[in-house]
Amino acid sequence: DFEKTIKVLIVGNGKVGKSSMIRRFCTGTFTNTYKRTIGVDFLEKVQYCRELGEDVRMMLWDTAGQEEYDTITRTYYRGAGACVLAFSTTDRDSFRTVSTWKKKVEAECGEIAMVLVQTKADLIDQAVVDKDEAEQLAENLGLKFYRTSVKDNLNVDLVFEDLVVLADRYAQS
Ligand code: GDP
Ligand code: MG
Repeated sequence: DFEKTIKVLIVGNGKVGKSSMIRRFCTGTFTNTYKRTIGVDFLEKVQYCRELGEDVRMMLWDTAGQEEYDTITRTYYRGAGACVLAFSTTDRDSFRTVSTWKKKVEAECGEIAMVLVQTKADLIDQAVVDKDEAEQLAENLGLKFYRTSVKDNLNVDLVFEDLVVLADRYAQS
């Protein structure tokens, strides 16, 4: 058994790359074909956290495509200790919706460790969100901000490593 287990939510509009991020972090793969995540509740990864000096069991919960229908249930949010708010480089609407996702999580979970993540950084040519406004949003929401690419394997591990440490700080306070 592990001393620390943490449930992590990855929220954001459909197709921003949430399932890809979870898969990349947990299994180290990227696939270009879009697969609806149906029936999969979560993937697990045991990660050694250098700052805490121990193994942490992370349960990464996926939304099974329900985000498009606004039918995410309480079960999904219950007991979460950390959350990734994700929007895509190429999807303006997903950027606009970030604060709504944040409120939904906070309504169910209270204040938990959260970070803001811009996905698909490799598609910078097709960007519809400015560098400045993304950073501004992070500042307004009081969140640490990361640009990631599952395709190029950029910053994906870092996001989850930092979240573990942040969640531990929330748990202490
Ligand atoms: P979800 O609906 O948020 O779970 O999104 P998915 O993980 O299913 O990804 C939606 C689409 O975006 C799929 O076609 C993925 O292959 C693609 N995708 C995900 N991450 C990246 C990335 O970092 N770069 C690029 N170019 N495509 C990505
Ligand atoms: Mg998905």
